[in-house]
This record gives sequence, C-alpha cells and structure tokens, in this order.
Amino acid sequence: MFLGKFGGFGEMAKVLFFNIPSEGHTNPTLAYVAELVRRGEEVVYYSVPAFQRRIEATGARFRSYGEALPRDPFEVPPNLLMLGQWIMEDTQRIVQSLQEETRRERPDYVIHDALSVWGRILAYLLRRPAIASITTFAFATRHLLRTPGFGLDLLRMLPAGWPSLVNSRRLRRDLEQANDLPHDLLGRTFCNYAGLNIVFTSRLFQPCAEAFDERFKFVGPSIASRNGAPPFPYDWLDGRPLVYASLGTILTDHPEFYRTCMRVVSRMSVQAVLSTGRKLDRALLGPIPDNCHVAEYLPQLDLLKRASAFVTHGGMNSVCEGLYYNVPLVVVPQTAEQAFVGRRVAALGAGRLLKSKHFSAYRLERALQRILFEHSYRRRAEEVGADLRAAGGCQQAAAETIKFARAQVGVAQ
Ligand code: UDP
Repeated sequence: MFLGKFGGFGEMAKVLFFNIPSEGHTNPTLAYVAELVRRGEEVVYYSVPAFQRRIEATGARFRSYGEALPRDPFEVPPNLLMLGQWIMEDTQRIVQSLQEETRRERPDYVIHDALSVWGRILAYLLRRPAIASITTFAFATRHLLRTPGFGLDLLRMLPAGWPSLVNSRRLRRDLEQANDLPHDLLGRTFCNYAGLNIVFTSRLFQPCAEAFDERFKFVGPSIASRNGAPPFPYDWLDGRPLVYASLGTILTDHPEFYRTCMRVVSRMSVQAVLSTGRKLDRALLGPIPDNCHVAEYLPQLDLLKRASAFVTHGGMNSVCEGLYYNVPLVVVPQTAEQAFVGRRVAALGAGRLLKSKHFSAYRLERALQRILFEHSYRRRAEEVGADLRAAGGCQQAAAETIKFARAQVGVAQ
C-alpha cells in the first residue's frame, strides 16, 4: 500500500485538487485554495487551461488534464442524465491517464469537486483521505425527489436521457471492474461526497439542512477579490438604482433574454449592467438603451456590491454572491438545478422566481418593481446575506480542511 509522508500536526501537507472544467465550480475554490496555501499547504490543482492563470494566482501549482479532458468549460448539456454520461466518460480517461502521475506526487490528501468521480476514484487508489468541494447545494436524494417541481423536471429528462443513463451505468461497472473498486465507492454521479464535505453555502440557505450531518461544513460563499476581473467604467454609474443581469457563463446564448431586460429597464428610472457571455452575437441585441451597459464578462462581485436588484439564471454562485451582498433577486432559471435554487430563493422571500417559459417583459417588470420597492425582499436578502457572511467563507473552509486532514493521519496509512 502507498504510504504518504504526512507526519503530523504543524507539518506542511501536499494536496491534490481535482476540479471539473466549470467557472461556477472553480470560482469558490480559488479563495479556499489561496487560504490553504497561505496556511502552508502545498496544492497541486488539476483543471483545464482556461483557468490556469486564476489557479496559479492562488499560489497553487496548476496541472492540466491534457487530452484526458478535452471539454470546453463553457459547454454543458442541459439534460443532467447526459451530463452524467460525460462525467463517466471523462472519469475513464482521467483515471487511466493520471494514475501513475498522481502516485508519483505522493499527496497527503485529496480534495475533489463533488461531480469529479475521478477525484474520488484516484483518492481511493492512492489510499488517501478525500474531501469534497460542493459548489451547489448538497443533495439528499430522498429530499430532492420530494421537492415540488424537481422530481417532475427529472422525469421530463428521462425520454431524451435514457440512453445516457444506460451508458453511464455500463461505464461505472467497467470502472469498478478495471480498478477493483468496492461497490459502494461510487455514490450517485453528482454526489461524490467524502469524509469531509465543504459546502459553499449556509445552513439557512441549504434546503433540508437537517439531512446533513457534521461531515458537511456549510461555510458560505468563498468570496475574495478576483485577480484578473475585467475593468468597468464605474464613473458611468450616476446614483440611480443599479440592476445587474447575467445568465452566468454556460447557457448564455439567449439574445431575447437580454433584449427583454433592456426593454424593461429602458422605461424604468434605473441603470442596468448586463453580462451576456462569450457566445452571444452582439448584433442580435439590437440598439442598447442609454441606461444600459453591456459586456461579455463583468466584475460581478464589484457590481453586486453596488446593485439594488440582480436578474440571474439561478446559478448557485451567482445567487449566493448576490445574497452575500444583500441584493434581492429575480431568478430566471435555464435548468432544473437552477430552478431548484430559484425555488429556495422564493421560499426564503429573498426574490422572485420567473419560469423561463413564462418570461416576458410584463412579468419581469412586475418582478423588478416588487423586489426594488417592496422592502420585505431587501430585508430577507439582508438576513440571508448576514447568515452567508457569518458562515466563515474560505477561512472556515481551510480550517476545517486542515483539521480533518491532520485527524486522518494514521487512519489512511
Ligand atoms: N461571473 C463573473 N462575471 C460575469 C459572469 C459570471 O464574474 O460576467 C462569475 C460569477 O461571479 C460566478 C460564476 O461566474 O462566480 C458563475 O457561476 P454560476 O454558478 O452562477 O453559474 P454558471 O456559470 O455555472 O452557470
């Protein structure tokens, strides 16, 4: 059995971090990793070149998955079952290509995204303790299926996703056999939880938080100044309420969404800043009203500090970042997972949920008027925001990680 060099408290430990190629799953880990490095850990971070610069800025060493993970980080199938198949295919390639290299690294412990099945398998093959990084909600299946709407959303995915489900199961069996994995090692594809699970939201925001025991640490959003955030002409802001709108970084190619936002805000006494993503053909937006500023990518955290309302797709990071800065939300979800987040926002009274199939200028204007001018939304956003800020963020995440890793000495060897 492989033996690590990890000798005990106070000593620097070496960590292998396996993430998936996604901005939403990467952003919260950056301040967390920077904090681990600051506390003396040596971190080797596996990702795709699109995130190399930002990962290196944390003090971690960047490693590319290379040919084993050829995915575009801004491409994801809308059907979760298809995504499951992608993940299992990636896992096969990555486990095969990285086994030797990771053994040579002689890590003391492993951190992996909860979607990174390969991270879980490599930790097992290295016989190292594992920690999961959860940038969405933590999911407990029995609660999920009871959540109104979500079970139905999953059922709707079945017809198109059935072949992917069958393929994923076959790939999983192949992986188990090829690597002599115990049958219970691989949980559900999207829930690769570990001995310690760092969840980047708070217990208040997490639905059914009581379903998660002390192995789940709810640390809130991991917010830190973002190296390389693009510049913004802050002088343009003139004191009118600021509406910030974004569909995140993946499913952004919806010109009608931005056109509707601009039509609505052009008749309101506000200013609006819209992040349109890198895939959109700008010509499809038509004329930009005077009170709107449009860009492919924006310094979201700095804008949220100044915003009075946030029209968002309901990505977990965007939502937590908005609430962290006390901003009430209009959530216009594009996927089942985002709808799940949006329902939580609505249930907590911190914003309005607008189903994308019902999205219209009339409904958006009504929702915006309400969150801007009915005080209860701002007040609830502030309450949830206070809870998110109190959860401890990257410092708490790093402290829990190091405590857990040190306590594992001797157990894993
Ligand atoms: N983001 C940003 N500027 C932009 C658009 C997005 O900084 O113009 C960041 C945002 O702060 C968040 C991440 O990209 O941390 C998007 O993650 P989220 O989970 O909200 O959505 P996804 O892109 O995964 O759908």
